[in-house]
Amino acid sequence: MALHTPLHTPLHSDAGGLLSYACERPLPAGTLVRVPLGRREVLGVVWDAPEGIDAPPGQRHALPEGMTLRPIAGVLEGLAPLDAPWRRLVAFAARYYQRALGEVALAALPPQLRTLSPEQLARRLRRPAQAPGATDEAMPATETLTVSAEQESAIARIAAEPGPFLLFGSTGSGKTEVYLRCVQEALQANAAAQALVLVPEINLTAQLEERLTRRFAPLFGAAAVVSLHSGMTGPQRLASWLAAHSGRARIVLGTRMAVFASLPGLAFIVVDEEHDPSYKQQEGARYSARDLAIWRGREQNAKVLLGSATPSLESWHASRPPSPENPAGGRYLRLHMPSRIGAGALPRVRRVDMGQQPRRALFSAPLLAAITERVARGEQSMILLNRRGYAPVLHCVDCGWKSDCPHCSAHQVFHKADRSLRCHHCGSTLRVPRHCPGCGSPDILPLGRGTEQLEEQLGALLSDVLRPDRTPARIARIDADTTRAKGALASQLAQVHSGQVDVLVGTQMIAKGHDFRRITLVAAVQPDGALFSSDFRAPERLFALLMQAAGRAGRDAAYMARQGTPCEMWVQSFHPRHAVFEALRRHDYPAFAEQQLQERAAAAMPPFAYQALVRADARTQQLAQGFLTAATAAAQAAGLPGREQVTLYPPVPLAIQRVANVERAQMLLESPARAALQRFLSAWQPVLQATRSQPQHKGLLRWLVDVDPLVI
Ligand code: ADP
Ligand code: ZN
Ligand code: ZN
Repeated sequence: MALHTPLHTPLHSDAGGLLSYACERPLPAGTLVRVPLGRREVLGVVWDAPEGIDAPPGQRHALPEGMTLRPIAGVLEGLAPLDAPWRRLVAFAARYYQRALGEVALAALPPQLRTLSPEQLARRLRRPAQAPGATDEAMPATETLTVSAEQESAIARIAAEPGPFLLFGSTGSGKTEVYLRCVQEALQANAAAQALVLVPEINLTAQLEERLTRRFAPLFGAAAVVSLHSGMTGPQRLASWLAAHSGRARIVLGTRMAVFASLPGLAFIVVDEEHDPSYKQQEGARYSARDLAIWRGREQNAKVLLGSATPSLESWHASRPPSPENPAGGRYLRLHMPSRIGAGALPRVRRVDMGQQPRRALFSAPLLAAITERVARGEQSMILLNRRGYAPVLHCVDCGWKSDCPHCSAHQVFHKADRSLRCHHCGSTLRVPRHCPGCGSPDILPLGRGTEQLEEQLGALLSDVLRPDRTPARIARIDADTTRAKGALASQLAQVHSGQVDVLVGTQMIAKGHDFRRITLVAAVQPDGALFSSDFRAPERLFALLMQAAGRAGRDAAYMARQGTPCEMWVQSFHPRHAVFEALRRHDYPAFAEQQLQERAAAAMPPFAYQALVRADARTQQLAQGFLTAATAAAQAAGLPGREQVTLYPPVPLAIQRVANVERAQMLLESPARAALQRFLSAWQPVLQATRSQPQHKGLLRWLVDVDPLVI
């Protein structure tokens, strides 16, 4: 909870708002304190006086009769107050994403701060924990790469211009090296400067942390680099956070949550793979770390560098030249690095028309032949299928029974390895029945394919294929099921890197970022689903995934030259001439983006419009939709500001309407003006709250707002 002290005015009664406490001396805004709340004692942040309340610090006001203020329980001594830019960031995020200030402020702090007593914290501050891996051992000297002409020109532009920048560079073009040089320059310019480097996923941090430490420890000290992500233990996270807050850490590497790190010297922000949907938080305050990074950079006067081989259409649009038709253009400066460094050419794209293949074939004959050749030559292949498990559903041949989840409007997925049926939405798990629960027939069969089945079929299809040393082909699978145990992903990736795997099967998890040097073939066996999805962003995501996957191939030019064969990206599709695959064939992201943006402009969809979702959960669909309908009617009646520029669509069930016995409904709000949508949402909040407290909506479980939603 955020609090304001020593004012007496109780500002909001909800737990996430501002509360007032008494204290003996005036405390500067940003001070961390412990305060009583009900019968508990909780962490609080002293907040700025809200507008309209004019209270010189330290001045006590007469309290209304009968009211007393509870005193704060203690100050977290030794911690500098959270600075004004940090507080502005938190306040902005709370306002923009329609959440309570205190909720956002507390979620932005390391969880351990909430539980440590001031004394425990003081002890922690006296002996700062060593960042994991940081030692005083001698570090190897700074890498001495000669930057390419493209890298040099990007670096020079970044040094000279204010940004924000969109670094549009092919996979393997050396974007990371550009990040490192820019960070180094920013840190050397000022002894107090700090940099924030964001990556989309936890499993991409380890590789990069090592690289950052190797580069920067010799320059800025062994403890200069710290990580911040949810895979760390409480004490590790606290140690990193304290190092950043105190200015000891010069570089913070983290996932989306790190955008809220306290960085008093922030001078440079990198958002790697800026298009990645993982930057959007999907619960609580549903913030976009990429968008907040842009805001924070502007606010704190730090340069912001977004990087991607397949930028989000939002960022691409912002980096188009401004024109009368495109007044939003020119907000970002686009830097282009088309060439791959030290890597072979981008792979040749081969499309297989599955309409011409035997029905129900998972692997077409030409793809299988190509994989076989690779194994025989001792090269690696990577096969992508974005669905884990053995089959998405079991069904009965006799009565049509399907393995529906009893709690969700979804099928339970068949996992053959442990003969279970598992719902990927609510987690409910059953043993596979021997007989059909509907009619008792023993003929229950899997329908459709998942990665487990892919692995099994490849095993059978390649059983006679030998490697150059006459040993059989080795197949491995990496997906959420094989990597549940801590460290499992790292060890499985290491096996692939060291050449102990010939064919790697997996979900999109393996397409992202990993540097597989010896892969010469990548295949997407069933990518069609995304082409006709009701989600207008599905083609964008598919294109990015396939370009990423293609970028995994042929990353080592010397190796490719020795092998003497070109690398290939295979796509099996019933629509091989689809615009997505045509653009992929030419590795032409700009053409793809222009085509998509034209469609979006014609349909007035983002980035040409701004959206928000309001979702309601209840025991029945009727209750959920009823709440949204009533809140809409109340908004119409109240004539809320911004309303004339906002379109409110009627409530509909979510694509997966029921999860864990909860019915879910949502309504879409759309506006050509971001400010109008914001005005309307802010004005609507109290109306939604009031509607919720009406007796006819008692059965409502919760409602929430998602601003700039990624999935509609
Ligand atoms: P990206 O992030 O654009 O996919 P990376 O930054 O990972 O590309 O670079 C690809 C490879 O090229 C890496 O192995 C990197 O060490 C190497 N590399 C980058 N810049 C240079 C350079 N100037 N000279 C030689 N190798 C480089
Ligand atoms: Zn049956
Ligand atoms: Zn379920």
